[in-house]
Amino acid sequence: MFGDSIADLHDDGEGVDVTFDSGMRHRFDLVIGADGLHSNVRRLAFGSEEELQRPLGGYLAVFSMPDVFGLGNHTLAHFSVGKLVGVYGVRQTGQVRAGFLFRGELTYDHRDKDQQKAQLVKEFGDYGWKVPQLLEHLENAEDFYFDSIAQITLDSWVAGRVALVGDAGYSPGPAVGGGTSLAVVAAYVLAGELAAAGPAGLRNYEQVIRPLVDSSRRLSPKIMGTVIPSNALAVRLRPGAAATLAKLPTSLQRLIWSQNAVGKVFSSTTLPDYSDLLKPERGQPVP
Ligand SMILES: Cc1cc2nc3c(=O)[nH]c(=O)nc-3n(C[C@H](O)[C@H](O)[C@H](O)COP(=O)(O)OP(=O)(O)OC[C@H]3O[C@@H](n4cnc5c(N)ncnc54)[C@H](O)[C@@H]3O)c2cc1C
Repeated sequence: MFGDSIADLHDDGEGVDVTFDSGMRHRFDLVIGADGLHSNVRRLAFGSEEELQRPLGGYLAVFSMPDVFGLGNHTLAHFSVGKLVGVYGVRQTGQVRAGFLFRGELTYDHRDKDQQKAQLVKEFGDYGWKVPQLLEHLENAEDFYFDSIAQITLDSWVAGRVALVGDAGYSPGPAVGGGTSLAVVAAYVLAGELAAAGPAGLRNYEQVIRPLVDSSRRLSPKIMGTVIPSNALAVRLRPGAAATLAKLPTSLQRLIWSQNAVGKVFSSTTLPDYSDLLKPERGQPVP
């Protein structure tokens, strides 16, 4: 229901009555919140974001801009203690994306883009390197993103007939915990378990993905600690390691990446096979 949002949920055990911002009301068998890190469904059914969030002590900003450095498919990065700036080419658009990671503790409104842009300038205005050229494009950036790197710490992401999937339920932290993999795998399991058991499948969904959620949550603080250098030695070693990796053959690079902590968790997990539950679409033979 495009352009509308959920204002109220009432679960009576047999179904969920949903009132929308527009005033429209509907009754549903289930409500699945797939509305991301700042989930509205989570706020309504599980509690306020502040109580369910665990900040990891870092911030991330990203925006697209013209390829003023002629980077093509290449990446530039600059490290300092507590900060990392990267610029990488986006083949599909011919633009580049500028990314800023930094440690700190800020108070900010996650909906107030102007305030966040000012915060970024405050953090990086004196950084040097190519940052002044990057910040020149901040004002007009249409896809500016800024958020704290925070986890959602819910113990259960099912409450009666309301459930959460992806970042809404168990964000391991943007850009540090494999949140996309987790969201896609979890959506697959949710669909499979609902097909197998109807609404009772929500509990099975939670059980099947819990080990993956727990692993991602454990790993992301460590990954954030590695990505943003915490001391001068890490700053010195990081460019050498990145340059060595870049010189390796692509197949070897892929192998090394697949051994990273998050990749290992997902590749060592066997997911249930729900293919027996597939129903043919009308008029289509079962493959
Ligand atoms: C800069 C950046 C880099 C990242 N890099 C990686 C990476 O390399 N690898 C990785 O695995 N993960 C990465 N992540 C994390 C990844 O993007 C998320 O974990 C993933 O997108 C979660 O998917 P989701 O569907 O749960 O939530 P989202 O992708 O956030 O989707 C939620 C959707 O809900 C919509 N929505 C929100 N509120 C409402 C509402 N009230 N009503 C209706 N719709 C609503 C939003 O508009 C959005 O479309 C990165 C994140 C960021 C920010």
